[in-house]
Amino acid sequence: MIIGQGEVVFLEEPEPRPDAGQVLCKPLSVGLCGTDKLSFSGEMPAVEYPRVPCHEVSAMVIDDNSSRGLQPGTAVCIDPYNSCGQCHACRMGRSNCCKFNQTLGVQRDGVLRERFVVNADRVYEVPNGSDPRVFCLTEPLALALHIVERAGDVQGRWCLVAGIGNVGKMVVSVLRGRGARIIAWSRSSENLHQARTLGADVVVGALDPDATTQVLDVTDGEGVAVAFETAGTSQTVEVCIKLAAYAGRVVLVGHSRQVSNVSGSEIVFKELDILGSRNSSGQFARAIEMLTRCPTPWREMISDRFSFVRSLEAFELTSSKCIPHGRIVIDFPD
Ligand SMILES: [Zn+2]
Ligand SMILES: [Zn+2]
Repeated sequence: MIIGQGEVVFLEEPEPRPDAGQVLCKPLSVGLCGTDKLSFSGEMPAVEYPRVPCHEVSAMVIDDNSSRGLQPGTAVCIDPYNSCGQCHACRMGRSNCCKFNQTLGVQRDGVLRERFVVNADRVYEVPNGSDPRVFCLTEPLALALHIVERAGDVQGRWCLVAGIGNVGKMVVSVLRGRGARIIAWSRSSENLHQARTLGADVVVGALDPDATTQVLDVTDGEGVAVAFETAGTSQTVEVCIKLAAYAGRVVLVGHSRQVSNVSGSEIVFKELDILGSRNSSGQFARAIEMLTRCPTPWREMISDRFSFVRSLEAFELTSSKCIPHGRIVIDFPD
């Protein structure tokens, strides 16, 4: 449990009991997300302490008190979002951006605990015979699928991914599967190298003085059909708007509280579609299918694993200077 900025404690609690319609689970693997890093560092405004963090989890059913009939020992993963069902977004069928959404580990206690209880409709079964631990990547992969879905048809089109962190890498991989032509943009040569391995056609160092010219050159001076902003900085927001082609799209994913110097006239003149992308909606089944069919490239995105008792080290690594070049996962015993 996080009890304050940078402060983690282990608490003994009685085993929770599932109410009617709920499932009691034991985590197998838990992924650390950008939001968990921000919760730990005290930069997540939606988080009040104390808070049990984390929402990316593969788990095993212990007791199903719902009509689902899940057997004890069934491997599952969890959709961590909880929407209100009433607000404008929910009425539009877009519960992923519900005004009152509560995500496990953010607005509600999360899954970094030896037992947790969730509503049965949030539980997805993992296919038999696959390694259940890899399914802690279901939520971030579903998020990447949603991001790319916001962009529409990308087949054969130039797409810029500005920011090659954990989200950017997944977006590159999803775009590869969709037949896009991909330009990866990052300050980190290590991350650009990984983007290349994941299928980026062109990599551009964000600090190169001619970085924008490089993008224009490969796109015949037109710019990209879609620019994905995944870094959450004002600079990458500006780059995406600048490098989007006329009639292009910009999909904003990163949470930036910096104020961007964006020209309204450039958006009008190019008639850009500027879209936000938050959480995911209806992509869990597809993400599970992708992780089942071909788990290796996704599993390789995990760079560091810690046991549950070493969770504090995992959190410290997220906020250390030597930022890991992949996802951090916390493993519970079988
Ligand atoms: Zn996440
Ligand atoms: Zn709502």
